[in-house]
Amino acid sequence: MAPLDELVACILSQHTSDVNSGRAYQQLRERFPTWEAVMEAPVEQVEEAIRPGGLASSKAPRIQAVLRAIAEHTGGTLHLDFLQEMDTESARRYLLSLPGVGPKTAAIVLCFSLGRPVIPVDTHVFRVSWRLGFLDRKVGEARAHDLLQQVVPEEDVYAFHVHLIRHGRQVCKASRPRCEQCALADLCAYRKAQSSPSAGHDGA
Ligand code: SF4
Repeated sequence: MAPLDELVACILSQHTSDVNSGRAYQQLRERFPTWEAVMEAPVEQVEEAIRPGGLASSKAPRIQAVLRAIAEHTGGTLHLDFLQEMDTESARRYLLSLPGVGPKTAAIVLCFSLGRPVIPVDTHVFRVSWRLGFLDRKVGEARAHDLLQQVVPEEDVYAFHVHLIRHGRQVCKASRPRCEQCALADLCAYRKAQSSPSAGHDGA
């Protein structure tokens, strides 16, 4: 996906399922021939197009605000191709400067659209990371981007991201981690803490 397409798809994916956000994205692209048309349309029309993705009344103005900010930067045309020419940190800073774009959205665009060695920290990546002891749970998802980035070698970033998501979905589930089946159990800080006689359950 082109970086701008990825960015809008990512905004649509927040707080909803992949299926619903996929429908919202498809409908948005079908109703409006260009991103310029999305930017200039009455916000109610954008809202209507993305309704299947949920939270349409907040996502529609946000998408238009992001498009306006990009148009201001480029002088009118809507694209993010100029990010290709930037180093990763500058591209990240630009994305974070857009209205409502946080570390996770920026990381998704950098990783999946621009092929940069950046780790998008979603709920699975964050949970598996703190359970294994890579970081303290209290740091929160936003800071986890920087902390994980410091400890995962660039060449392993993509595999790290994909494997942690798979592990979080299939084994290290949120409410009932399947520790008995887990290949990482011997290395896991959370497992060790839960097995100790004084351990309580944190319900995570
Ligand atoms: S041992 Fe349990 S808590 Fe630790 S990574 Fe495996 S499934 Fe998750």
